[in-house]
Amino acid sequence: MDKIYVNKLSNYIDSEISFSGFVDTIRDKKWVQFVILRDSTGKVQMTIEKSDENNAKLVEIVSNLTKDSVIKVKGKLVKNDAVKLGGMEIIPSSIEVLSKAEELPFDYNNLDGVNIDTRLDYRWLDLRNEKNMLARQVESCMVEGMREYLYSCDFTEIHTPKLIKTASESGSSVFKVDYFGGDAYLAQSPQFYKQMCMAAGMSKVFEVAPAFRAENSNTNRHATEFTSFDIEMSYIDSYEDVMDFEEDLLIAGLTKVKERYGDKIKELFGKEVIVPTKPFPKIRLEDLCKIFKEKYHYDVPEHDIGDMNADMEHMTYEYAMEKYNSEFMFITDFSKTKRPFYHMRKNDVPQGYDLIWRGMEITSGSQREHRYDELLKNAKEKGLGKDVEFYMEFFKYGCPPHGGFGLGVDRLTMLLLGLNSIKETQLLFRGPNRLTP
Ligand code: ATP
Repeated sequence: MDKIYVNKLSNYIDSEISFSGFVDTIRDKKWVQFVILRDSTGKVQMTIEKSDENNAKLVEIVSNLTKDSVIKVKGKLVKNDAVKLGGMEIIPSSIEVLSKAEELPFDYNNLDGVNIDTRLDYRWLDLRNEKNMLARQVESCMVEGMREYLYSCDFTEIHTPKLIKTASESGSSVFKVDYFGGDAYLAQSPQFYKQMCMAAGMSKVFEVAPAFRAENSNTNRHATEFTSFDIEMSYIDSYEDVMDFEEDLLIAGLTKVKERYGDKIKELFGKEVIVPTKPFPKIRLEDLCKIFKEKYHYDVPEHDIGDMNADMEHMTYEYAMEKYNSEFMFITDFSKTKRPFYHMRKNDVPQGYDLIWRGMEITSGSQREHRYDELLKNAKEKGLGKDVEFYMEFFKYGCPPHGGFGLGVDRLTMLLLGLNSIKETQLLFRGPNRLTP
């Protein structure tokens, strides 16, 4: 394959090259034709002098060219300081149309006023928008930075099954699927299996994979399928070790994003990538609620007592910025009625946390209960029986103390770029009313 990408073109000045890409813009002037070509790394100009008789065939091809067709050009790459795009241009000797584009249903360069569902129906066109292209690169970079950090800390990447036999875990609704005439469920998280790895003695594992939630809710932050970045680690002393580790992980990811894309994010999204410093502020839920009451005259609704809701997440951000100049804040000491049975408890208080970033929950984490008898007690209290029997077995034959967390990748990207909704953040959004494309 001889594809040369735009960001490497400057190495080929004064050479005969072959270049393939999308037709970004066509400017057919009286004496000259300018065609801007685009690939995933940038844009380059191709210039054809109409007065040159040898160009007659090329001029005809360009006259019939449609925007967003894909072409392959052979020709000479020359320096030209007058050209804005990299000070170079391609002078073609041949043009081959590889794929002719029909007229586009909307202008992806100007998405203002284009209905989000139309955008999602044609997501592959929507993704041609420069900002959407950057969003994909930024997400990849964030995950790369976090992955690298985990490998450097001797974590093992695992791949757990998404088809499971039982439904229950933490109370989230699950999708039931037909499994050869019987029932199976789509995993709402890899929780049980990452803990199984702790029981196996693997010490430090992570997974980046889909999680499924059958929640019929249309918020800006919920999808029925999302990407979860999950960590589990053994031999911790308390959930504070987990929080401490998550700080390092996020710092590693955000540092990488800032280095590689900080300027571009600022330019296209108007958002600063802020690499936080350790430790992030922490607060007990009860203390936070007192502050909400005093500062914002906010009373926690009855059904949210002992838990957080979206309003509280916004106020947390405001408070954390004002008091600590921090975009992040850990909330601890939730009510045991609002936390899953596998969270360890001390004096009846779950040993876990939520992490709020820029006004939204991005993580739940905890020390897990690794003692069989205690776990059984918690499971019974939540009315969980048969569904968790297989999981309970993991703790009968020795298991180190451990903890971990689940971090929503889609929410990370959304908050990082200041996007309005998870719909426009996910590569392909999945929600109650959307299963296509
Ligand atoms: P929420 O309270 O916001 O519904 P949750 O408490 O159900 O979230 P967890 O089960 O603790 O979330 O999942 C861990 C993380 O996974 C969340 O902090 C979030 O980043 C992400 N997450 C959970 N549910 C969804 C969803 N439906 N869509 C997108 N991301 C999600």
